[in-house]
Amino acid sequence: MNDLVRNRETVLAQIRAAETACGRSGTTLIAVGKTFPAADIRTLYAAGQRDFGENYIQEWAAKTEELADLPDMVWHIIGDVQSNKTRLVAEKAHWLHTLSRLKTAERLSAQRPPHLPPLNVCIEVNIGGETAKHGVPPEEALPLALAAQKLPQIEVRGLMCVAKTGSTHEALLQQFSHMQTLLAGFQTAGLPADVLSMGMSADLAEAVACGATHVRIGSAIFGGRPAPAV
Ligand SMILES: *Cc1c(COP(=O)(O)O)cnc(C)c1O
Repeated sequence: MNDLVRNRETVLAQIRAAETACGRSGTTLIAVGKTFPAADIRTLYAAGQRDFGENYIQEWAAKTEELADLPDMVWHIIGDVQSNKTRLVAEKAHWLHTLSRLKTAERLSAQRPPHLPPLNVCIEVNIGGETAKHGVPPEEALPLALAAQKLPQIEVRGLMCVAKTGSTHEALLQQFSHMQTLLAGFQTAGLPADVLSMGMSADLAEAVACGATHVRIGSAIFGGRPAPAV
């Protein structure tokens, strides 16, 4: 078996084990392919993977062209989207996990072609309060979600976060439980939101234990990436 395919099987088994431990099921695995070639995505597709995450719009756009022959691809944009890059997302993505500005939602809704269903979005929350991270503070998530949900071509599906760098097991559980509370707040406010996008290679078990419905896994499937030039 190919390494990528074997890694995916390992991650799926980790997800199943985490689900079993808390009596849950149905977590969606998003394979995050940033910095890795379209050929790797094709390999995973052949093994049954359909949900793929990308961070960088330019890189993702090139991959969508290389992989245009694959039906049923589900593309999740999980990186920050500058206002001048919204059109590609509106036209080709199925999900945006990182909404943090109403202006971006307005552009996406206006640019989303009418024959496509509304773009699924999650509000990104800066759950660890780090200055270096994107996302809105927890208390701003609901107001943004309610405003975005009024837009015709936007469907607010839930919330997304990246846990604070270097968190302990307890700190991860605390942050992910906070996300769970925020999602409950969305539901109380009448939003039809049902998604918690949280959990990466190093913290997927904690995320699943706290109700993650979508985990975003890169390095555990694709291998290590060069350090980002931030
Ligand atoms: C890169 C990335 C991931 C995947 O991270 P790994 O630690 O490689 O699993 C998930 N979410 C976001 C937002 C990312 O940027």
